[in-house]
Amino acid sequence: MSISRAISEQMEHSSWIRRMFEAGLELRRERGPENVFDYSLGNPDVEPPAAVIEALRRVVAENRPRSHAYMPNAGYPAVRETIAGGLAGRTGLPFTAADVIMTVGAAGAINILLKSVLDPGDEVILLNPYFPEYRFYVENHGGKVVLAETDARFQLDLDRIAAAITPRTKAIILNSPNNPTGAMYSEAALRELNGLVRDPIIVISDEPYRPLTFDGAAPPEPLRLIERSVLAWSWSKAMAIPGERVGYLAMSPRLGEIAALRDAATFANRILGYINAPAIWQWVVAAVPDATVDVGQYQAKRDLLCDALTSMGYDAPRPQGSFYVFPKTPTPDDVAFIRRLMKEGILAVPGSGFGRAGYMRLSLTIARDELERSLPGFARAIAKTGD
Ligand code: PLP
Repeated sequence: MSISRAISEQMEHSSWIRRMFEAGLELRRERGPENVFDYSLGNPDVEPPAAVIEALRRVVAENRPRSHAYMPNAGYPAVRETIAGGLAGRTGLPFTAADVIMTVGAAGAINILLKSVLDPGDEVILLNPYFPEYRFYVENHGGKVVLAETDARFQLDLDRIAAAITPRTKAIILNSPNNPTGAMYSEAALRELNGLVRDPIIVISDEPYRPLTFDGAAPPEPLRLIERSVLAWSWSKAMAIPGERVGYLAMSPRLGEIAALRDAATFANRILGYINAPAIWQWVVAAVPDATVDVGQYQAKRDLLCDALTSMGYDAPRPQGSFYVFPKTPTPDDVAFIRRLMKEGILAVPGSGFGRAGYMRLSLTIARDELERSLPGFARAIAKTGD
């Protein structure tokens, strides 16, 4: 059996998130599951909203003819029309069904866009720290990653983005609210970014965490603020249905080459093998597109964890959205500190896994009682850094 060099290398550099997940399985076997506190995966611990399950039951009960048949490669026209109507209402832009392609999650949306625009060696700017799968999405389609650091509070650094742009730049991936930092970009920063983006660059705004914002904050709208933008959307986190992988790509009607892009992305949606979002789930999300899990439970866990860590001496600012906390590790070697936490049964992901050493990502999808029981371990781990 011969495994390609490309995939072997990618697996070698593969995600710390998965590695921690696997380390967790081992630790559970060793110590018993009740002694392991898993902050590693962003896998919602809550059930989907009741409205989502009711809509699913209705769609299945209707059992329309050809419910499980192939459909147009961009997804069901009626579903896309519903989504476009919502986007038009939100942005004031003339979205139509033609601008929306139903995809296998946000990952599918980003991949079909990159497949459509990248020639070998074209560059895609990622804002560091970043969701590690982005690198693979870019490399999947022959692209080259260029990193632009965010500032000390993980906000956009417009000078660094401007310096990263070259004649080969084809896309910039934005993710706000952010995984791993929980940062949310301001309207003013997005307007400034708009001033930097010229044809052929497209801003891909990846927003699976959009409905998960805290303290009543409303996230600014990149589709409205950035002319050359597309939205990569997924209901995985908002509805707590990541196993269903249902999302869409929405292309701003203000993009000049929109017709060609729609055709290319629709074709890519088929030939990459994703073949639309799952049929039944397209009807479900169209029935209740705004149903969202209770954000209050994530906010309560955020407050509990950030306050406790801060009182122990950690630098753990409260995130504005998503469901991640991104504290500094008390020692600059984040991987060594993660090992120390593992001795306490705590699984976290080192900032190095996201391109920023000296930090760690803690997912608020951990159960509340597990979170509470993990706190003495955090206190012991930071106390030992003084040894
Ligand atoms: N983008 C970010 C920032 C994510 O955190 C994730 C999943 O964790 C995705 C995209 C992929 O979303 P989906 O699994 O719905 O395709």
